Amino acid sequence: MERILIVGGAGYIGSHVQKQLLDEGFHVIVYDDLSSGDIINVLPGADFVKASILDKSALKDVMSSGIDAVIHLAAKKAVGESMINPSLYAENNISGSLNILNAMVENNVKNIVFSSSAAVYGMPQYCPIDENHPISPINYYGYTKFAIEENMNWFSQLGKLNYAALRYFNAVGYDASGAIRGKERNPQNLLPIIMEVATGKREKLSIFGNDYDTPDGTCIRDYIHVSDLAKAHSLALKYLMNKKQSLTVNLGTGMGTSVKEIVDATEKIIGKKLNYDFAPRRPGDPAKLTANAHLAQKLLNWSPDYTCIEDIIQTVWNLEL
Ligand code: UDP
Repeated sequence: MERILIVGGAGYIGSHVQKQLLDEGFHVIVYDDLSSGDIINVLPGADFVKASILDKSALKDVMSSGIDAVIHLAAKKAVGESMINPSLYAENNISGSLNILNAMVENNVKNIVFSSSAAVYGMPQYCPIDENHPISPINYYGYTKFAIEENMNWFSQLGKLNYAALRYFNAVGYDASGAIRGKERNPQNLLPIIMEVATGKREKLSIFGNDYDTPDGTCIRDYIHVSDLAKAHSLALKYLMNKKQSLTVNLGTGMGTSVKEIVDATEKIIGKKLNYDFAPRRPGDPAKLTANAHLAQKLLNWSPDYTCIEDIIQTVWNLEL
């Protein structure tokens, strides 16, 4: 069976990708420095290498052990922090990723699936966003993702490797079977913050802006279940290995849900009111961001299983029960 290296495999999305691949019978090697990942996310059956993507010799060692494909999810992802400390993001997200590409080329590893982001598009000029939408990131985090897409594109044109760039919209949810229990430390995203409010770990949720041009005034996003994302990684892997061609696709449901709708749905699921208030808009937040993911459907035969936001939120709440 193919040996798949999951870089950043102990993180939130990486752990779900691990589960998907292990369930399908792949040999999985998790490579993670545990700076934000968690050892409890390394699942039974996976091999584990604790090392950083800044460690070129550790990358070389693992790449020379016979790897059929790499899935690269190791990155810093706090948008606000990327604007305050760009060097940290240049080092981890750009230099670290280039180290991976170079180690792959050196060891003739031909396939990489890369975690990209809707952040590469910047402010939407139209919605839903397809892959032809202009690329114009408005934060440094989004730029680092695009920089690696461009490098993979060059390496691919030069015959060194094939890549799948997966542009995630808002990843949410947890594995429905309860196999993955590691929570993110110091979460910055909406749903984990809501769960901290629901469980009393945090006093209240601030909803950033209620005067947007949307039906209830709060921002609309495209929330995609992490297990659906994981499934797309496995399909992308097989596409690369069978077709030997590169691709870039959006991954979202195409459905938009507002912050207020998320809050209301969560209150229904947990059976109590959440403490929240309305705060000023967060800089750089578009009113609406949804995906056109028809290309992923066409090229990968991928479509999300989760299309109901209540079902998605329930999988997160299950972790607290
Ligand atoms: N949001 C919010 N309060 C929070 C965190 C997020 O109102 O404490 C909103 C944010 O403005 C956005 C949505 O929730 O409209 C999703 O934000 P998140 O940071 O999870 O993801 P992003 O869309 O920025 O990638």
